[in-house]
Amino acid sequence: MRIRRQRAAAALLALVFFFGRIVLAQEAVQKLGEIDTSYYTPPESTEPYSNSNTAGPIRNVILLIGDGMGLSETTLAHLIAGGAVGKLHLERLPVTGIVWTNASDTLVTDSAAASTALAGGVRTKKGVIGLSPEGGRVLTLSEAAKQKGMATGLVVTSSITDATPAGFVAHVPSRRDEIDIALDMRKSGTDILLGGGRSYWIPESVPGGKRKDGRDLIAELEALGYGIPRNAEELAVAKESKLLGLFENDALTTLPPEPSLASMTAKAIEILAKNKKGFFLMVEGSEIDFAGHKHDSGEVVRQTLLFDMAVKTAMEFAEKDGLTLVIVIADHETGGLVLIDGKLSGKDMEVTWTTKYHTPTPVMLYAFGPGSLAFTGVEHHVDVSRKIAQALGITDFPRVTSGAKTIEELATSTKR
Ligand SMILES: [Zn+2]
Repeated sequence: MRIRRQRAAAALLALVFFFGRIVLAQEAVQKLGEIDTSYYTPPESTEPYSNSNTAGPIRNVILLIGDGMGLSETTLAHLIAGGAVGKLHLERLPVTGIVWTNASDTLVTDSAAASTALAGGVRTKKGVIGLSPEGGRVLTLSEAAKQKGMATGLVVTSSITDATPAGFVAHVPSRRDEIDIALDMRKSGTDILLGGGRSYWIPESVPGGKRKDGRDLIAELEALGYGIPRNAEELAVAKESKLLGLFENDALTTLPPEPSLASMTAKAIEILAKNKKGFFLMVEGSEIDFAGHKHDSGEVVRQTLLFDMAVKTAMEFAEKDGLTLVIVIADHETGGLVLIDGKLSGKDMEVTWTTKYHTPTPVMLYAFGPGSLAFTGVEHHVDVSRKIAQALGITDFPRVTSGAKTIEELATSTKR
């Protein structure tokens, strides 16, 4: 009797589970069928960009990172935007690679360890920014480029102090130290900083401010000659050679009237390209990851297509310029997105999500321009970073300056 009751309960549970999944899939179908892609301009051609100058000199590097953008995410965006026959702009980059993402301590990475690997060529622990597992300071591509006289920029849709941009200029034991990350960014001399996260730059006495040290880092950079655009209109007409544009207290909404990722990328390139010694620019589509964590398939499509518009902008410059290496990559996949079924037209897509966190499956890399052929094959984030350094003639890379304290000691000390 008891066993029979248990069996009945198990059968009931299985039924609930089974129909629950069908309902989930149906919701996804409905949402994806209704998704608006009017902000997106698909490529006029599905041909690969002509890679006529792979051996020539390299002046500039544009590294575009889709946070949480695995192959399922790009495939879904591809299908919704143009059906199976279409192509994303990023899929037109002629050289491709497959990139492992694991951290030093775990198979499944996070944006902090991945960014440290991509920016500094060193595997570190999850959550750590710009430090080796032993607490040593990791020189980043952005810092090395600055030392060579290149101009540098970070353009994101998250807070500018979030893990991915932080990994390019900051050195802190925890990605949560955004107050300290803002200080490192202010000191880094980065020419262009565009995105969200104003809160971490202004004193807590000001509405939205979070700084307990009372400093107004925005005013400090303004005093150093930085232009401070406050909205899309001011950004469009900004002429200063250095810009700090933080358009929300936290992450951007990625909706008008905010400047789009593509328009921020265009402005960054316009200004950075004036530097005769070249530039290093990192652009992040930060919120593909946010959508993955929320299991919001429609939002994954929107964020991936917004990111693809930034890739289009970068490629328009790189094709004309001929001296720019463009790399499109992800830091990891988020949500374990699986495409189950749908039509060749991209209609009636059925998808499911398999985890609330990231997955360890390697991500795609797409490359164009001088030096791009070196990026084909199966590699790790640290190899990508090391190859970019080599392409730019940055020697002695990766470079770790041994730290006096371990990460654990750094994390518990009040003064770094
Ligand atoms: Zn990430």
